[in-house]
Amino acid sequence: MTLARTGRLDAFGTTIFAEMSALAVATGSVNLGQGFPDTDGPAEVLESAVAAIRDGRGNQYPPGPGIPELRQAVADHQRHWYGMEFDADAEVLVTVGATEAIAAALLGLTEPGDEVVVFEPYYDSYAACIALAGVQHRSVTLRPDAGRWSFDPDELAAAITSRTRLILLNTPHNPTGTVFTRAELQVVADLAVEHDLIVVTDEVYEHLIFDGEHIPLATIAGMADRTVTISSAGKTFSVTGWKVGWVCARPRLLHRIRQVKQFLTYVGSGPFQYAVVTGLQLPRQYFADIADRLRSQRDLLVDGLAGLGYDVLRPQATYFATVDLGRDAEAWCRALPVQAGVVAIPSKVFYDSDIDRYARFAFCKRPDVLAEALLRLEKVAR
Ligand SMILES: *Cc1c(COP(=O)(O)O)cnc(C)c1O
Repeated sequence: MTLARTGRLDAFGTTIFAEMSALAVATGSVNLGQGFPDTDGPAEVLESAVAAIRDGRGNQYPPGPGIPELRQAVADHQRHWYGMEFDADAEVLVTVGATEAIAAALLGLTEPGDEVVVFEPYYDSYAACIALAGVQHRSVTLRPDAGRWSFDPDELAAAITSRTRLILLNTPHNPTGTVFTRAELQVVADLAVEHDLIVVTDEVYEHLIFDGEHIPLATIAGMADRTVTISSAGKTFSVTGWKVGWVCARPRLLHRIRQVKQFLTYVGSGPFQYAVVTGLQLPRQYFADIADRLRSQRDLLVDGLAGLGYDVLRPQATYFATVDLGRDAEAWCRALPVQAGVVAIPSKVFYDSDIDRYARFAFCKRPDVLAEALLRLEKVAR
């Protein structure tokens, strides 16, 4: 039997996370590669999932757009935290994690021949979903500048062509930990309005901020009608295996995304949808506490790495710190599990450009695990 070559994903191979996590297991390494926490989320939220399963809520197909309680909780969350108004019935869609939301948005809002602009380094599913949609992308490079990562507005303007349909923006940003400022978002907004573009925003780290403030792009004047806001429960509630995400957008955009979503998975994560309602309704203190805990984990890792002589910036948000090795970071990361018993991700996989000087370490791990990784790193050459 011959397989027809679609070619769309030929360039992608196996995700680096599967590869490095397997290497972590084989070498008994401390895994600071994949970004998942090693402690579970709040007990109320976990109990709520168990109760939903026992009570028969969500064990069968939930409604296509998501359970009404969760759509309302998402709309309430957007109003409570950011003063944004979304109609829970017409403007909120529950998805199988942010990953499905991003895929459905790209598939639903672009046509072959269109172009998408992304910021590199980028979350690894972006390029794959863009390729699945049969569209091209251009990337704008984020670079360290005065202690944080930012972009050159002229490079963003130059990446936009007559074919550009949308900009895909991730803030707070994985892997750099940058939180886009109001001024940076204004640059994006001005270009989107000028060229009549849609902007899809991935805001899964909206609550994991240590310095700075999360500003949803949709709150910038002129952007509410052209922004697709995506987030999910995985990072906020330390339940990355649950895959409950959501999209907020005006009906004309949301309709296109729902069209795709219904044939990707139709629905998912039934009982967990009820549990995420509990999560979104937790008191503000929960959200402050999780950011505080991660901030101290960030400081433990970043101070430790700096103490070992690594060139590392202190991220403003997310789960990740990036180390600048100057060169050959991929080879360094591949040797590290054997040499030191630690796994990090070579940031090269997050770039289109041939940039191989950065390695990404996750700090969403218990302090004793981070301390052990630092102890092991003392043994290796930088
Ligand atoms: C983890 C992550 C996602 C995936 O979110 P899920 O809800 O698990 O699908 C999407 N975007 C970024 C930037 C992430 O880090």
